[in-house]
Amino acid sequence: MDIQTILPKIKRNILLRDYTTFKVGGSADYFIDIDNQDELQKTITVIKKFKKPFFVLGNGSNLLVSDSGYRGIVIKMSGDNISFKNRLIYADSGVLLPSLSLFALEKGLTGMEWAGGVPGTVGGAVRGNAGAFGDCISDIVTRVRALNSNTGDIEEIENKGCHFGYRKSIFKKNPNLIIIGAELTLEMGDRAEIKKKTEKYLDYRKERHPVEPSAGSIFKNYVIKSDKERESLFSKFPELEKVTCDNVISAGFLIEKSGLKGLVCGGVMVSKLHSNFIINGGDGTALDIKKIITTIKKRVGDIFGLSIEEEIQYVGFYKDQN
Ligand SMILES: Cc1cc2nc3c(=O)[nH]c(=O)nc-3n(C[C@H](O)[C@H](O)[C@H](O)COP(=O)(O)OP(=O)(O)OC[C@H]3O[C@@H](n4cnc5c(N)ncnc54)[C@H](O)[C@@H]3O)c2cc1C
Repeated sequence: MDIQTILPKIKRNILLRDYTTFKVGGSADYFIDIDNQDELQKTITVIKKFKKPFFVLGNGSNLLVSDSGYRGIVIKMSGDNISFKNRLIYADSGVLLPSLSLFALEKGLTGMEWAGGVPGTVGGAVRGNAGAFGDCISDIVTRVRALNSNTGDIEEIENKGCHFGYRKSIFKKNPNLIIIGAELTLEMGDRAEIKKKTEKYLDYRKERHPVEPSAGSIFKNYVIKSDKERESLFSKFPELEKVTCDNVISAGFLIEKSGLKGLVCGGVMVSKLHSNFIINGGDGTALDIKKIITTIKKRVGDIFGLSIEEEIQYVGFYKDQN
């Protein structure tokens, strides 16, 4: 019996560029949309029986999918229920952050204003501990429900157990944990103030972020590891002292100062508006993006001696392929 007979919802050869904000990437062999826990458990049991690799997709806003696509099953988490009691919100992993931010605003709850312009889902955000303007999702997550695809068990993981850090979590380290939903605890606030703050952040993005297809910030900001490193960096590059905040140097600043703003490779370019964004002019490929990322890492390394790391996730890059 083939997998499609057991999972009739599963589709074949689905073009992933239609599911990513970068608008690049080839086809996945199989693709299934899942919107509830029981369906997820059943699907994982079948996938394991067929010994197929799988990849969990949120809104595809932090991904670079290779031009040759993905040789396995993409599971798109699209459950989007939100429930609410007092200051507690439970959101399915497929809920989009802007919808959640709006929901919180309508209920007069503060703590989600930063997320109004982040085009990801709750699942993707929890996995990467998404954040902006000094706030991040780990500040408000109290518990995460996940399916452990190795054991088949549903796990309820408290905030502490998520091991959150800057763009880090236990889920990033353990791709076998599939996030089903998260419980968030917000504070009661003044609705007018929440609206004002949300709009201020949205306006900031409108002014400073490009509108062309992208995956947001390609690189994590650089975190200085020791007093010795800080001293040595500031003595060699005094301009870094002014822009370093809490030992963090903006990757965009490093890229811009490396002279890469506006750099073009095939159909993609380092944004002139925000140097940590690579934008797809329309006919860009994953290979163009991969090449430009390699150039950026090398140039920042050569100029500042710093190794910057990608924030985006690579999907379907196999040996000897782009
Ligand atoms: C214009 C723009 C602005 C952005 N601004 C910001 C910002 O200010 N701050 C910020 O942090 N990010 C920002 N991003 C990046 C991105 O939106 C976030 O990282 C977002 O949280 C990713 O969520 P997603 O659903 O799109 O994840 P995807 O891109 O679909 O997936 C990312 C990773 O998460 C995993 N994943 C997704 N869902 C689940 C799940 N349910 N269970 C387990 N793993 C899962 C995937 O397997 C993958 O490894 C921006 C992106 C764009 C395009």
